[in-house]
Amino acid sequence: MRTPSRIRVFLKRHFGYDDFRPLQEDIIRTILDKKDCLVLMPTGGGKSLCFQLPSLVMGGATLVVSPLIALMKDQVDSLVANGISAAYLNSSLTPREQRDVTERAERGQIKLLYVAPERFATAEFKALISDMHIQLVAIDEAHCISEWGHDFRPEYRNLANVRRLLPGVPVVALTATATKRVRDDIVSQLSLRGSPQFVGSFNRPNLRYAIIPKTDSVNRIRQLLTKHTGAPAIIYCFSRNGTETLAAHLVAAGFSALPYHAGLTPKVRQKTQEKFIRDEVPIIVATIAFGMGIDKPDIRLVIHADLPKTLEGYYQETGRAGRDGLPSECVLLYSQGDLRKHLFFINQVDDEGERERAKQNLYTVAAFCESYLCRRAFVLSYFGEQWEKESCDNCDRCTSSQNTFDGTEIAQKILSCVLRTGQRFGVSYVLDVLKGARSQAVLDREHDSLSVFGIVKHEFSKDELRQIVSQLLAKRLLEKSEGEYPIIQVTESGRSWLSERRSVSLVRPDTVRAAAPQASLKKPALQESVAYDRELFEILRELRKSLADEGKVPPFVIFGDRTLQEMATTYPQSESALAQIFGVGAQKLKSFGPTFLARITSYVATHGKKD
Ligand code: ADP
Ligand code: ZN
Repeated sequence: MRTPSRIRVFLKRHFGYDDFRPLQEDIIRTILDKKDCLVLMPTGGGKSLCFQLPSLVMGGATLVVSPLIALMKDQVDSLVANGISAAYLNSSLTPREQRDVTERAERGQIKLLYVAPERFATAEFKALISDMHIQLVAIDEAHCISEWGHDFRPEYRNLANVRRLLPGVPVVALTATATKRVRDDIVSQLSLRGSPQFVGSFNRPNLRYAIIPKTDSVNRIRQLLTKHTGAPAIIYCFSRNGTETLAAHLVAAGFSALPYHAGLTPKVRQKTQEKFIRDEVPIIVATIAFGMGIDKPDIRLVIHADLPKTLEGYYQETGRAGRDGLPSECVLLYSQGDLRKHLFFINQVDDEGERERAKQNLYTVAAFCESYLCRRAFVLSYFGEQWEKESCDNCDRCTSSQNTFDGTEIAQKILSCVLRTGQRFGVSYVLDVLKGARSQAVLDREHDSLSVFGIVKHEFSKDELRQIVSQLLAKRLLEKSEGEYPIIQVTESGRSWLSERRSVSLVRPDTVRAAAPQASLKKPALQESVAYDRELFEILRELRKSLADEGKVPPFVIFGDRTLQEMATTYPQSESALAQIFGVGAQKLKSFGPTFLARITSYVATHGKKD
């Protein structure tokens, strides 16, 4: 066996991990070679470790620039729990505390110093960093430096002179969101000349994606929450009102949930966020105002109760689930009504360019929802990444393949109806004719006298028919025109399919009757079968919570879920056994080991082990 490299030894000793995530090792080696680099990885990809670990290997200190005060505290807490000397300097500290940190930094007692970008404008700070023997500068959320990004922060422009202040010190810039343009901008603003760029895959294999019809939504949401009982969940709604109403429904149904939106006072928002991070309230019903500044690693469920406006937004919001790599679920509730509602608002926008961009974005989201392609493949290809595999095994499209039926007859009826009505109408009209609706529009055109009028009875609802039409579109038997009032037509291959009397197999539409969104799945979703002793897990979770409260830190700073799950699988009862477990480094073994070992030992004595 090869002896583990020095950086692997550091990885286990300080962080308790056995392996690097993709790219981490290359990035760390680059930094240790004193080269600049740009790191582009999705949320949860493990960017922090890329500068935290080299900082331990190198002498001197590392300066970390971060825009979000709340995140600085969590990161520093996590480092300190791992026995690493870290601190932050920002406006949330009293002058006394600031002086204290400054003095420790000057004495070389701080390995990682987190600061807000504003600091770089002050003479005091410039003096401090020239005294500090800084070996590395890490710039987190580096896209904030670019006006082309979605989150430009003028203070980030102060960083342009970091080079001059710290000549010869390598700079690593990190971000989760950057188009080519923003990336180039970061490189030029920070003068990262000739430096390598590490671009990670945006695939998040542990996230399961599903889209379900938005009917009876409160019930559906309740079912999802019940499936993930007690686990942290975020439910995104379109409006402030929507969050309040849904939260009230859920509370009335016995869930512990709080609303969050920009209309609440900063104090209430802060409290709500804290309760969520500290595992006091598991469910937050929020507008998209919630999420930035939260890096809680164990969010198991993200629900979009209303349609998101852009696929980028959807990807970012769902990306907050499962940062710790454990199986987590992202469910979107889709309806045509939401689509029309958004369009209505978009049409009020005066600026034509803006209006058209908003429409394009919305149509992309609609195409994503209606597509019968793999969800993962759709999103990744939108972000310019190839997904080669046939099936991802972890989205509703890829796991429901066995729930198919012979759709020949219904497909023939739909195609015939499109042809008989002259290929001039949208989906809704065609379905009205099939269902025999005597609407004024139908009567005016005398479509009630067609043979296809009313030939679909109770076997399919209009909603189900819509889903079938989407599948026929995906199979290219039908096609849809672009624009606001798209019409559907039969394609060439649709015509030959009809005339050759071929058959077609379709996925059974999801209905309210199929109740639990997962109930229809034959294949188990990826990784979902990890069996651990749930009772012990809950006991350890409580223990973690009480230790966290004592130390005034979020629970995930003590141990992550995966660590507790491993404990609840292998029942370690000695220090050496505990040290083997994921996420248990030397410092945590010392601080929390005895308490956890005692609890596990007493559990095994009374309950025995589950096999
Ligand atoms: P990002 O900043 O890219 O969103 P983080 O740095 O917050 O991601 O890391 C996400 C999670 O992954 C954290 O809980 C972190 O401890 C964990 N993590 C990072 N690197 C590893 C690794 N090599 N093995 C296991 N877990 C890791
Ligand atoms: Zn898939």
